[in-house]
Amino acid sequence: MSERTGPGADWSEERGASDEGRRRSEGGMRRWAGPRERAEDTVSTPPFRYEGYHIDPGRGLLTCRYSVGEYRFTEQVTVPAEPGGWDREEVRQAARLVFLLAGVSYYKTAAPPVIDLGDTAVTDTEREFLRSFYLDGLAEFGYRNGLDLSGLRIEGPSRSGSAPGAAPPAGPGRPLVPFGGGIDSIVTAEMIRERAGPALFIVSRPGDRFDAIERPAAVTGLPILRAEREIDPQLLRSRDLGFLNGHVPVTGIISAIAVLAAALDGRDAVVMSNEWSASIPTLEVNGSPVNHQYSKSGTFEAAFRGVLAGSLGPDFAYFSALRPFSELWVARRFAALTQYHDTFRSCNRAFHIDTSRRLDHWCGRCDKCCFIDLILAPFLAAADLERIFGGHEPLADSDMTGASPASTGDDGSLADKFRSLLGTTPTSKPFECVGEVGECRAAALLAAQRPDRAGTKLLQVLAAELDGLPQLSTPAELLRPLGRHFIPDIYAPDDLLV
Ligand code: SF4
Repeated sequence: MSERTGPGADWSEERGASDEGRRRSEGGMRRWAGPRERAEDTVSTPPFRYEGYHIDPGRGLLTCRYSVGEYRFTEQVTVPAEPGGWDREEVRQAARLVFLLAGVSYYKTAAPPVIDLGDTAVTDTEREFLRSFYLDGLAEFGYRNGLDLSGLRIEGPSRSGSAPGAAPPAGPGRPLVPFGGGIDSIVTAEMIRERAGPALFIVSRPGDRFDAIERPAAVTGLPILRAEREIDPQLLRSRDLGFLNGHVPVTGIISAIAVLAAALDGRDAVVMSNEWSASIPTLEVNGSPVNHQYSKSGTFEAAFRGVLAGSLGPDFAYFSALRPFSELWVARRFAALTQYHDTFRSCNRAFHIDTSRRLDHWCGRCDKCCFIDLILAPFLAAADLERIFGGHEPLADSDMTGASPASTGDDGSLADKFRSLLGTTPTSKPFECVGEVGECRAAALLAAQRPDRAGTKLLQVLAAELDGLPQLSTPAELLRPLGRHFIPDIYAPDDLLV
């Protein structure tokens, strides 16, 4: 599931990252310098405060409250469940974690140097996790706003890390799969159903559903657990209210809500769909990683597992089923799942908060579509991709064919978007949920060798531009398990059990 502005997030959380900050960072690339006006007085900005949370079991409603200076924020999460379910200790612990992680969306409005937890006590492990969630999860936000958040202090009461005695009631084999309607979560749902009876988990705004999720979810035929998330409407007016704005680690927030829903439903695992390359930073600034996909990374997964073990007990599993696999491996699996090819969507605009501006088709004009097309191209026929993209297949774009990289500089051209994915242009990888350069190069070379791609001029030009460049990983390496993971054997695909 991508760290996109997908399920549970809202567009406004992305927009408005200050052009001034962007100009600073691009002008003074790689240097945190000269925060903009509002940011400059963050030192005197009052602390961001956790005001508290309230559970209304009858309505299945968790209300979270925060403040910074004169601003008060309220976020509401509704998870339908048996009222008695909310009394269980692991559910109350899960609700507390939602409260702790959801705060990041409101902290960013002013990004003060101090966070005050109020009466909410945390263990040392939780405090350390929370600080990293803020610093690494908001690294892109800080970079694009020209802010240095490294001095952040989290103040507030401590508690001992005692794990509750009783393990969740249900035995192994009752996993919950957060579902975003894209390639990754579709592959996970199909992998896990081979091993256990999963249910899908879908988050949306109250009274709203995303076709981009509902259509592929219907194709799975799996049961669905739902939650509704209502962010504070002030966030939708960030620009008017002079709030700082930018990307937040929304997959982290969704993960916590999924854990709450799983605990309420007596489930023993939340299975994410975060692939190997999500751990690779988008760029480095003074040696520090800035990762658009931080809360999809292996670092976040390991740290959040530590926090869950301390609050929900050792038997509750949180892991990504795709952690050891490249996007190339995922794309090859997805290519075989033909039943989803006409319903899956990997588009941010399909989740626009304003339904009239929600995109209901592929337009093939941004980094995301370029990546999806490129990574599927080795495994799907050109004609199938042309059909899937409704005649807007990015690789079929001809307007930049044959142009040398140096002469373009026009960020509207798809050729340049492909080049930033392939790392053949000075501009860094887009702040988007896309694979890393090695995966993209392997996909371009594999796809260019397909007989039905001999006439795809743009692809042939891009592949030729890779001549003489180091092949970072071979297709064979990228189609084998890579790196560390936490997938329990009962859920592991054959590739991991050999
Ligand atoms: S190119 Fe269009 S359809 Fe594709 S992800 Fe971007 S906005 Fe969505």
